[in-house]
This record gives sequence, C-alpha cells and structure tokens, in this order.
Amino acid sequence: MDKAKIPQIVYFGFDDALTTVLPAYYDRLFNHTSKRNPNGCPIGMTLYVSHKYTQYQLVNRYYKEGHEIAVHSVTHSHIKTREDLQREADKQKKNIAKFAKIPLEDIIGWRSPFLETAGDDQADVLKGLGYKYDISLTFKKSKLSGQVPFPFTLDYGWTFYCQIKPCPTKPHSGFWEFPVNALMDFKDQYPCGYVDGCYNVPKTEDEAYRYLYQNFKSAYEGNRAPFGLHMHAGWFYTKYQLDAMDRFINELLKYDDVYIVPVRQALEWMENPTPINELDKLSTWTCLNPQQRPSSQHLQQQQRPNMIVQQPPTPKPTSTSTTTTTTTTTTTTTTTTPRPPPTTVRIPVPDPPRTTRKPAWIPPPQRPPVPSKNFWSWVQPSKKVNPTTTSTTAPTTTRAPTTTMAPTSTTTLAPTRRPTTKLPMKQNEPFVLTSNSLNAQYLNEKFAHNHDMVEALQAFTTTPRAAAQGFVEITPRPLVANKIPPPLPQLTNRGCIQGTNCELPNCFCKGKTTPENMEWNDTPQFIYLTIDGPVNDRIYQKYTQVIGNSRKNPNRCPVASTFFISQTGSSNQLIKSLYDNHNEIALKGYSGIPTSNVSMFEEGMIAQIKVLQNMGIDIIQGWRSPQMKPLGDEQFKILETFKYVYDASLTTSQEAGPRYWPYTMDFNDGKNCVIEKCPRNSYKGLWEVPMSPILDYLGLFPCNFADGCTNSPATANDTFNFLWKEFTQHYTTNKAPLGLHFRQIWFTHPFFEDNLRGLQRFMDKVGEYRDVYFVTIRNMIEWMSHPTTVNQLNKGYLWQC
Ligand SMILES: [Zn+2]
Repeated sequence: MDKAKIPQIVYFGFDDALTTVLPAYYDRLFNHTSKRNPNGCPIGMTLYVSHKYTQYQLVNRYYKEGHEIAVHSVTHSHIKTREDLQREADKQKKNIAKFAKIPLEDIIGWRSPFLETAGDDQADVLKGLGYKYDISLTFKKSKLSGQVPFPFTLDYGWTFYCQIKPCPTKPHSGFWEFPVNALMDFKDQYPCGYVDGCYNVPKTEDEAYRYLYQNFKSAYEGNRAPFGLHMHAGWFYTKYQLDAMDRFINELLKYDDVYIVPVRQALEWMENPTPINELDKLSTWTCLNPQQRPSSQHLQQQQRPNMIVQQPPTPKPTSTSTTTTTTTTTTTTTTTTPRPPPTTVRIPVPDPPRTTRKPAWIPPPQRPPVPSKNFWSWVQPSKKVNPTTTSTTAPTTTRAPTTTMAPTSTTTLAPTRRPTTKLPMKQNEPFVLTSNSLNAQYLNEKFAHNHDMVEALQAFTTTPRAAAQGFVEITPRPLVANKIPPPLPQLTNRGCIQGTNCELPNCFCKGKTTPENMEWNDTPQFIYLTIDGPVNDRIYQKYTQVIGNSRKNPNRCPVASTFFISQTGSSNQLIKSLYDNHNEIALKGYSGIPTSNVSMFEEGMIAQIKVLQNMGIDIIQGWRSPQMKPLGDEQFKILETFKYVYDASLTTSQEAGPRYWPYTMDFNDGKNCVIEKCPRNSYKGLWEVPMSPILDYLGLFPCNFADGCTNSPATANDTFNFLWKEFTQHYTTNKAPLGLHFRQIWFTHPFFEDNLRGLQRFMDKVGEYRDVYFVTIRNMIEWMSHPTTVNQLNKGYLWQC
C-alpha cells in the first residue's frame, strides 16, 4: 500500500494487575472524552491483565470505555510448558469474562509473563482457546533509524532471531504475532525491550519525551509499521515520565494520520489493510459518539508539528554490532549487546527522603525521675526481641540504632512535640480500594421513599466484595514450608479446613496459623491502632502529634489507624481530614450507645452512612458495636446485607501463646463466646477481626482497651514496657496482627499524657523494624486476602500511596 494511505497505528500495551492506583494515570493519559483520534473516536489502549491484585470492576470500566482487555496469566509465573499455558490462558480468560463481565469472544490477546513463551506450543494452545494473537516475542533493532516488522501470522514460524527461547519454528497458520519491537533509548545506544526497561534511563521530562517521540518518528517516517509501546504503568510513578507521556500523546493527537488504538484494532487493520480515508469500513474502528477534535488542533494539523529532535552523538555499542552472523534474516544486533535491558522491569519507586524514620529522641522528663527510673531501658531490647526459633535472619532493623542518638542538647522541648507537618498528599492519588463496600441496591429499595437518602447513596454502586467473591484462583504454589515455629494446634470452628473447604481470598479458618503458611521471615507484623469515639479538635491534635502524619511504614506509606466513629460530638471536617490522610473511617453507630433494638441499630447505621457520604467518605468497610457488645445474629445479618467487609466486635478468650489471626465467619458456630451476644450462624466471606485481650500492666487482668486496664501503667516507661511485652508476644510467635485499641479519652485527657509518651516511644521503636506495619484494618484484610511477603510489601506491591 502506498505509504501515504497507511494510517500510522500507535498501540499501548500495559501489563500486570489492574489495581486502584492506576486509574490516576490511565484516566489522564487516555481521557476518553478529551482525547480523540482523527475519526473522532476516543483513543484506546490494551491492558494485559493478570489476576492477583486486579480490581475487576476497574477492568469492566475500561472495557466499557472502549479499551481492550487481554490476558497476562493468573499467577504471573514462568509459564513454559504446554500444560501450564493451557491452564493459565484458559483460567484467566474465564476470570476476566466472569468478574469483569466481558464476553469471551472479546478477549483475544495473550501476553506471557516475563515474555517467556512455550515455543511452538504457544500458538497451538492459544489458538485452541480462541485467542487470535500473541504479543510476547521480541524484536530488537540496532539503531533508531532501523525498521521493525509489521505484525504477521506465524504461518512460517518466528523467522527472526529468538531473543527469549524458545520461539515457534513450525507453521501456525493464521495465528497472529504482534512482535514486541524494542525502542531505542534516548541516547540511541541500547534497545529497550519495554518502554520502562531502558539501560539509559531518561532523567528529565525532556529526555523522556525525546525518547518516545524520536522512536515514533522512526516508524512514522519509515515503513509505518504499527508503533507499539509495551510497558508497565509503574513508569508513571515518576512524575516527569508521566508528564512526558502525556505530552507525547498530545503531540500525536495533532496528526491527522496517527491513530492510537488497542491492539485488536491494529489486528483488524492488518487483516484488512484499509486506506486512511476508508477506515470506517472496519468494524472495530467506529464508535458511538464520534466527536471532531477541537478546531484549534486542526489548525495545527495543517502545519505538521515539526519537533526538532536533537540527535545526541551516538557512541556505538562497542564490540558487538558485527558479531554473530548466525542469526537468520534480521539486520539487528544480537544477544551480546552490553547489558541487555531486562524485559521484566521492576516498578521504579522514587526515593523520597526518609526523614521520618529516625528514632525520635525523647528528652528525659523534667520532673524528678520516677522510682522505676529505667526510662531508657528500652534502648537495649530484651532478649525476647529475637525469636530464638529464627536465628537465620535477625528480625531487627538495619536502621540507626537508638543508642547512637545521644541527646545533644538540653533543649526543653515538650516530649510529645513531634513534627506535625502534613505529608504532601497528591491530589487525585488513589489509595487502596476506592470502591465502596455497601450494598446500594438494598439501600435503594429500603429507602425508595426517601429521596435524600437515595441520592446520598447513589455513589454506592460498586462492591469490592462482589469482585472478591468466587475467584477462579489457581492455588498459588505453596510457599516454602514453614519449619519454624512448629505447627500450632488448630482451633477452628466446625470443621473448617484451610485449603480444603476454605480457601483464600474469600475464606480463612479461625486459628493461629499464618495465611498460606507464610514463613516467619516473610510475614509482616501488623499493628493496627483503633480509636473509638467522637472525633473532635482535641483528639485530632493529639493524634496528629503522637502518631503524626509523618510516620512512615517500610513501604514509605504513612502510618494509618482505624477510627470507629460515632457521629455525636464529631467534627465532620476533622473526620474528612483523617480520611484524607489515609486513615480508615469505620462505624460504631450514630450515637455510640449500645442498643438492643435492631431496627434502631440499622436506622442509626444508615443515618451515619449518609452523613459520611455527604462528606465524600464513601469507603466504609468496617463495623464495631458500641462498647464491644455484639448483637448476635441480627447484627451480623445486617452487616452481611450491607456487605460490610469486616466486623471488629467479637473478643477472643485470653490465652497464653500465639494470638488469633482475623478469620472469616464461614464456619462460625458461636462457640467460645467471650462477650455475648455472639452470632451462632455462619456468614460467608465476612471477616471477623477479633479483639485479643491484653493483660494489664501487672499481668493480672485482661483488658480490651489499652486505656481500660485494671492496673494501668503510670509512667511512660511502664507504658512502653506494657506495649512492648504485648508486641513481643505477637512478634516472636506467629506474628498475628497486634491490635491496640484506644478510646478517645486517652488522647484528650491530660491524665494520660505520660501514657502517650510511652506509646510514642513504642511506635518509634517498632517503627525501626523493616517488617512492622502500622495499618488500617481494611488494609490488613486486603493483605489477608492476598498474603504478600515483607519484601514485596516494602517494594510497594500490595499498597502504594
Ligand atoms: Zn507482567
């Protein structure tokens, strides 16, 4: 075809899980109302979706917006055998169809994790499963001006050099391969297998832009082969790269012969090469509401943008370009290029300065030392810190030991004064689950007569639990068996057998075993702080002082707590501010007064939801009954109806040894009830985050709230020791989450000032551990559903912020 008649196709393919952090990027880059192709249809992309961590309601949304959804395996593992591929490609296609509600026949593309294929089996298996194309085999050119192949059918196998073996060599008639054509880096030195996989990483927006634009130009001014951008959205975590991409896309939109389309559209064009003025004959190239692009852009189209691309002097890759001639028809260089960029790219995480992790120095109290004056005793952790069972890796931190923090001055800073500067929270930055958990339909039916209520509940449209229910999950390969500590006696309810009749992410038996039997070293120690009661000025200020907006977890996300609020006496503005600072807002009823009248209870809950909804707080997943007094099955029925994710009202018995993990109520039988009324029925998939009583300071009486013990610690040091002892009880055994429960009086009454200093010191201390996370309950539940190793968490795998 005459080159002038060929539309320059540009296609984006993003890999891996579609998580809630990504819309912030996709919705900007691919804004489907403002960004249009020359034919007036929205620009599109292809998402290669793997299963774990994917939010399928988002998958559905992008599908409905016209993007292509394709498949990137269930487990994201190394899939090299026919059997593995058969299972993974089949299951994940069905997962997408089922959970994202996408017709099977619309799911036609496959990309292999790590771009490792099953060779000749790849095309056979995929074809058999109804796939139309594969997009896993890589092609490299040696310099920017080199040309890349068009997509082609594998009727003659893969005829280029095979970068990642094996590649298909036999004919696979009619099955399409979209080669992953490498880009050249911005210095035109080395190929980048993925956009985000360059050896020479662009360091500024201009460099990043130049990198994208000059590669595009090479295709546009060359053979006009479809120009693919294969990448991970992690590239956009670095802001100048996101800005560069946005600028690049905006630049492309000025051309009237450049189309940014999903791969399936490129495929239809390849099957039916169509001149640029007849593109509307292709079925996938039309859309419902084509809109002409703003005329200002048309003006600019007349004068072709003529970006002057600086060509930096290009030092040739030394010693390589003329090596192996054994490769077949390619004109490319070969495997011996220096440091080939990795094709599986770690998400680059920017390195913010870690100002907050320094253990704070607490000046000695001004008053005369208390008798148990060993205020500094915590500096030398007791032997208990290191669990004797895990001698291989010391659980302690690599951070600066507190002992070096010698007091340098005699400043009389109040001990509790902490940096209270707000973290710069980026606007529009999503944080974990963004969907609401409550059942809108039920609410609408129930309150159809109440217009206000219905309106307030309009936003409650999606239910994360619906997405979490019934995954066709392939059981992940068992983690390395945990040899230490020895298996704990299982105290489960009514025949619950983990892995047999109860499986994550939806079901977890009550007990003391780590999810997925994760090894001690890999398991994070969660500490979840809950604060009950009204949110007013005093608690807000104190909370910010002591816990602060500046403390960070090892993944650099801010420390956060769960607030079970009662509406009476709360400031809406402060609630919103806590929420905006990544804390969780959960409910404990409108008045915070226990009520045995279930319908009042329900009405109160709904009234409270409405108030929060009006404030823009639409993620409510948790419930705690006032004063920890559950209302039995009637309460749990309501929680189930409203699709709460968890309840945190039940109490476990006080026992020595390891503590209980949160569990689901699938096999609940109501036995071992500590505080009545406990529910007797089972509730599928509803999590219970039980309160494990802690022993008071003297070790005599159990107490649920840290501030409600019979024998309360009087000094900061005693408070520290009290918390520390409880912490080691968790940390040195099965690492079951440690819940520290406070009522707002602890933060507001001057009587507790010393206790707060002890708490602060405790948080400083455990904050040095690389495996200790202060999280909200909902984040913890998210982890329970998708257990993730400490290393992965620290790399920003499950939660980002
Ligand atoms: Zn991947």
